[in-house]
Amino acid sequence: MLPTIAILGRPNVGKSTLFNRLAGRKIAIVDNTPGVTRDRKEAETRIAGRPVRLLDTAGLEEAAPETIQGRMRASSEAAVRESDLVLFVVDARAGLTPADRAFGAWLRRQTVPVILVANKTEGRLGGYAAMEAYELGLGDPVAVSAEHGDGLGELHDAVREHLPEEAEPADDAERPLRLAIIGRPNAGKSTLLNALLGEERMITGPEPGLTRDSVAVEWTDPTGGKVRLVDTAGLRKRARIEQALEKMSTAASIAALKECEVAILVVDALLGMDEQDLRLARLAEREGRGVVLAFNKWDAVEDRAATRRRLDDVLTASLAQLRGLPVVPLSAQTGRGVETLMPAVRAAYALWNRRVPTGELNRWFEAMLTRHPPPLADGRRIKLRYATMPKARPPTIAVFGTRAEQLPEDYRRYLVNGFRETFAVPGVPIRLNLRGTS
Ligand code: GDP
Ligand code: GDP
Repeated sequence: MLPTIAILGRPNVGKSTLFNRLAGRKIAIVDNTPGVTRDRKEAETRIAGRPVRLLDTAGLEEAAPETIQGRMRASSEAAVRESDLVLFVVDARAGLTPADRAFGAWLRRQTVPVILVANKTEGRLGGYAAMEAYELGLGDPVAVSAEHGDGLGELHDAVREHLPEEAEPADDAERPLRLAIIGRPNAGKSTLLNALLGEERMITGPEPGLTRDSVAVEWTDPTGGKVRLVDTAGLRKRARIEQALEKMSTAASIAALKECEVAILVVDALLGMDEQDLRLARLAEREGRGVVLAFNKWDAVEDRAATRRRLDDVLTASLAQLRGLPVVPLSAQTGRGVETLMPAVRAAYALWNRRVPTGELNRWFEAMLTRHPPPLADGRRIKLRYATMPKARPPTIAVFGTRAEQLPEDYRRYLVNGFRETFAVPGVPIRLNLRGTS
């Protein structure tokens, strides 16, 4: 019996869209009219690398408005009874409605674990919008855009944390680090993988390119830890047909980002870091992954000092959200420098897992507020009270206070950068959640 995950929520919050995203296929009909999908849809798919059964309850909402809550409850009860986990979706753009609150209150009384999903958070307003969902008392909302595919990596992580244990070594030391090697075509990803594997040859499935799950590469790296490569279709040599390479490989990188913990971004030093590389780095940041930049083909670079300077300039100017990103110049082909890559990956992984105790965090927080008090919002004071770190992977800070959610962008950046410097977490995405209290 596969673990079953039900997608619940009032009509029009985006359940079917999320279902399609997670199922990876266009199954349910998505429409603006509430209740268009008539039947309950289900699909077998993989989430966070685990096979699961996914239920979409969208179709069960057809009802006259006055009875909609009753109907929703009846269909939800049925779904909850057979589920191991519920994804409770709210529309962060529309804000919480009485139906959401009633639904949330009901779910809190059930025994099934619930992941709160704040949908439609694409674009600049997304972060703010998701905050309101805290009021439901169902824990930290995972901000996603089902339509645009944002935030799915973090949703996968949340699902992974909630599903019943798989028959995997429970000991964290034994659990392989999930690594992705991403980069545009010809950056040297395959060559690098072979160099990392050393004696162990690259293992490919029987039909490369056909079954996505047929490839598993796992090895022990020089630091002594286990590593599992998250499948990147573009790494399978024989599958790399000379067609639409740019698109295919980028899509594979994006898919791998959702399942990995740390990503090695391979950049061709002869070409330098360009827009496409930056896009992948930003995607990795958005998915909340640790990142290490492998600056490849270093053997063929003539003016190393100038090349490095140019890279640093681009990173400073265009990738502030990953400030301090570790860069490892190397040659995948000759092997020079490759031995320093996995230690850098382990270090990034450790930072990505970093948790700061609440006391230490609040001493830092006080000092930050003393140095620069928060500005006024619409002429009124924003009073920040305290900070906690509800989760790591990536490090996430929650700040509580009156009108906290109105903190302007530059003050948020001040907090994030201050955290980064004080607690030495360079090159790791840092999430800041602001929670207004009254
Ligand atoms: P359901 O009734 O809960 O199954 O909702 P649907 O999946 O049918 O989506 C309702 C509407 O919201 C549709 O018009 C979708 O295109 C739209 N929608 C879904 N996800 C998103 C999103 O992430 N962002 C935005 N802006 N719209 C979305
Ligand atoms: P992928 O498409 O990212 O998997 O790239 P490949 O590993 O297939 O490498 C693309 C090309 O770059 C091949 O011709 C490699 O021989 C070459 N290449 C890879 N690594 C290096 C390197 O460190 N130095 C040099 N000079 N060439 C390299």
